[in-house]
Amino acid sequence: MLVDSHVNLHHEKFAGEVDRIIADARAAGVSAMLTISDKISSSDAIRAIASRYECVWRSVGAHPHYASDHLDVTSQTLASLAVEEDVIGIGECGLDFHYEFSPREAQQRVFAAHIEAAQATGLPLIIHAREADDTMGSMLAAAMGKRPFAPLLHCYTGSLRLAEEVVGMGGYVSFSGIITFKNADAVRAVAARMPHDRIIIETDCPYLAPVPHRGRRCEPAHLVHVADKLAEILDRPRSEIDDMTTGNFFKLFKRARRPGENS
Ligand SMILES: [Zn+2]
Repeated sequence: MLVDSHVNLHHEKFAGEVDRIIADARAAGVSAMLTISDKISSSDAIRAIASRYECVWRSVGAHPHYASDHLDVTSQTLASLAVEEDVIGIGECGLDFHYEFSPREAQQRVFAAHIEAAQATGLPLIIHAREADDTMGSMLAAAMGKRPFAPLLHCYTGSLRLAEEVVGMGGYVSFSGIITFKNADAVRAVAARMPHDRIIIETDCPYLAPVPHRGRRCEPAHLVHVADKLAEILDRPRSEIDDMTTGNFFKLFKRARRPGENS
């Protein structure tokens, strides 16, 4: 079985099709998934989707693109939204200095609140980092020195150095369909250097459809192509990739129960 560690099921591109999309994912061997919060105001919609399926968990948090709309969000607010048992992570949150849709200071302030929420709840921190490796590395290291938490770099495309820093803190790195893209040698090189007990995979659907679906709408079922490519990069059998990434997912997301497992 595979677990898709990052899907955006409340995205308008999936409206009215979530039943079919989840059925297709399960038929492809993607047995469970974590659907991600982009804004606090999306929480009700995301909760409604997660509550319909035993195989769907959710996160709470605000994407750095929307940091300007979340300047008042405190770690207490995030922690209180995270008490429900289908919430297994904090985020996605972080720093995006590539698009910089919100000012950098706003992004850092909102990200700091998410780090505190991860520290307070013990839930993993789902991190979006784009062209902000230095600031990201220093914010994570400073916070980790105060109180430990579990960082996950999602849809990773950054430097080997930041990935190694996060692994050194006990964190994890997640790779998406980008590893199948022709021009992504640098990302594949980072994946090849990661310890096998710290690698997780995701689709980030509806974005970033892997080859051979590139350019079309991505779905969780497409995770098999990410797994196939990772098998090729690490020169390991596909079955081993499935066991490794699924095992790593459940080691990191401790609140998640394997489907069928009683609480
Ligand atoms: Zn992201």
